[in-house]
Amino acid sequence: MTRLQLAFAVRLSKRHRSAHLPKNSLGNFVATICTRTLILLSVLLNFQIILALKYPEIEFRYDWRGKFIDAIGSIFFPKSCNFEKVDHELKQRFEQILPRLITQWKHKAPILFGEVFSTFNRGFKHNKRTAVLFLGTTIGYGSNNLLLLGIRAFVDAKLWPWCASREDAFVNMLFHELLHIWLCDNIDDTKSQLLKKYSQERDHVRSHIHLMAIQKMVYLRLNRLDMLGMIDKFYTQVATTDYKQAWKIINDLEGYENVIHDCLNSLKS
Ligand SMILES: [Zn+2]
Repeated sequence: MTRLQLAFAVRLSKRHRSAHLPKNSLGNFVATICTRTLILLSVLLNFQIILALKYPEIEFRYDWRGKFIDAIGSIFFPKSCNFEKVDHELKQRFEQILPRLITQWKHKAPILFGEVFSTFNRGFKHNKRTAVLFLGTTIGYGSNNLLLLGIRAFVDAKLWPWCASREDAFVNMLFHELLHIWLCDNIDDTKSQLLKKYSQERDHVRSHIHLMAIQKMVYLRLNRLDMLGMIDKFYTQVATTDYKQAWKIINDLEGYENVIHDCLNSLKS
């Protein structure tokens, strides 16, 4: 149940009490019961709706597509995209680590998306996705057509300094990419005052304003300051200019609560 809906339920019950019930002790007792019942019913109803919302079931595959990306990437994009060679040893480590990463994802995904669903009451259009994994570099891409996860940083022998842990960094990457899909399913960009305000920014900046604010909201609510610290380090020190600019808009120019409010006002009807 969102705070807005709870406030609405309480307001409604108060109005009901003052309009129809006598102000004697029996009336007060009945009014209290009515109020509590109404709130309880609203909570149960919303809880049911939130439970019904599901994050997509992910099938993880390192198939010909991932191998093709690795092969082409190491030949043509070694410098611009930092593709590195994928050797037998790395593939072995990947096979050892992948089940651990997937287990963590299955454990954390309902918790992370539980926060998203309880805030917005909106789920995904599709309940199944295939994530194509590749090993040459660390880049993610999420859209309704394609979900790509380059997970080099999380399988390399030496973990990158910005990663809190392999598992959390992987969970964060997949959460980020699925949020792109969730935004696409649920947000009408033309309704957003913020996207209008920042219309001069590059598309890549604008497409991360709502997304990063949701990440920040979720990690704060779950008290995962370590994960918030991890993305802060990544978005301010490691990532490209567009990520830095989007993170600056959320933290320094708007405040993430305002961005979340804009998100709520921009939901598709
Ligand atoms: Zn992104």
